Amino acid sequence: MANKKFYGLGTTLSPIRKFFAYGLEKAKEVGAENVYDFSIGNPSIPAPALVNETIEDLAHNYDSVKLHGYSVAAGHESTRRAIADNLNERFNAGATADRIFCTCGCNPALIITGKALAESEEDEIIVLAPFFPEYRVIFGASGAQVRVVAADERDFQINFGELEKTICKNTIAVVVNSPNNPSGVVYTEETLKKMAELLKARAEEYGHPIYIIADEPYRELVYGEVKVPYIPDIYANTIICYSWSKSLSLPGERLGYIFVPPQCEDGDVIYACLRGAAREVGSVCPPALIQKVVEKCVGCEPDLAAYDENRQLLYDSLTEMGYEMAKPDGAFYMFVKAPNGDAAAFSEKAMKEQNLLVVPGTGFGCPGYFRLSYCVSGDMIRRSLPAFRAMIDSY
Ligand code: PLP
Repeated sequence: MANKKFYGLGTTLSPIRKFFAYGLEKAKEVGAENVYDFSIGNPSIPAPALVNETIEDLAHNYDSVKLHGYSVAAGHESTRRAIADNLNERFNAGATADRIFCTCGCNPALIITGKALAESEEDEIIVLAPFFPEYRVIFGASGAQVRVVAADERDFQINFGELEKTICKNTIAVVVNSPNNPSGVVYTEETLKKMAELLKARAEEYGHPIYIIADEPYRELVYGEVKVPYIPDIYANTIICYSWSKSLSLPGERLGYIFVPPQCEDGDVIYACLRGAAREVGSVCPPALIQKVVEKCVGCEPDLAAYDENRQLLYDSLTEMGYEMAKPDGAFYMFVKAPNGDAAAFSEKAMKEQNLLVVPGTGFGCPGYFRLSYCVSGDMIRRSLPAFRAMIDSY
């Protein structure tokens, strides 16, 4: 008999996919213009022009055998050097190519990191609600226990009361995702410093390091004057997982990396463990062509104007109608309080009565909230506003 756990995972749609699939079907019936789909986080701004120019240039002018051949497992050295240079320019990170391990996007980076750190099923990896629902699968794959810290619903920074109760001698890592999916909140320097103090004290008490796994695919997606603190400057034992899925709008190209900063305790050992864990998940090397593309485009900055306009339009319109949410400063999500506190019922009703597709927060660890992805057209947002109004008026 085949594996029951995987059968379960393979035959249940994530809530995000469920609403997305409903939208595609419904559009055939009522017309795409009458479906307001805020379910999925697929970037809606094109990749920078330099990406396609580089692909063309490589296709015409680069040795085809080399271009499409295997790279070493960690990625081309020239690509890793370009990534390290960029990190050094922006964060004075002390990065070197031999501490960067390229992966097929951020999810594989997280899976490999979890597996590299976990030793036994007594180990625990903490995730902070609200969190990316795939964390349960991703960090579950490490064999460690995934422990959830409830959200601080006042502002969606970290709930320190709960975190203090959850960290124990078995804690090996805490996952930090900022800018956050689903809340759009950016953890402040003050929050991160407080967390660093707590983790340092507990690591000392238990006599082993507790790592931060910084999941940062939205690092550059931040609006206004808000800054995303560079976590290794605040907490040395940080391992960074990153991808260009969101920042350069390249989610289908599958490229990301893991960076073990120089200040990280046992960094060389961890890097060796990453290589080993990557072998176990069959990560031969990330796509070779896109490595060469990113090598050239690593310094490109996304034009966030369209996301920012959407953010402001939705935030202003929804709060004016009476919806409540923490101010979303980053990523392209907002996490809105369901009018009667039951986001699952709100989402079903919005889907059935208004063709309005929002994702209930149950899977994100916050059942009272629903998530909106605003990487959509501004036009769709404007057309959807009467549906949001009808929903709140119906409560
Ligand atoms: N981490 C978070 C918080 C995400 O929101 C996502 C994708 O939506 C990922 C990781 C996975 O990114 P990738 O597509 O690069 O694997």
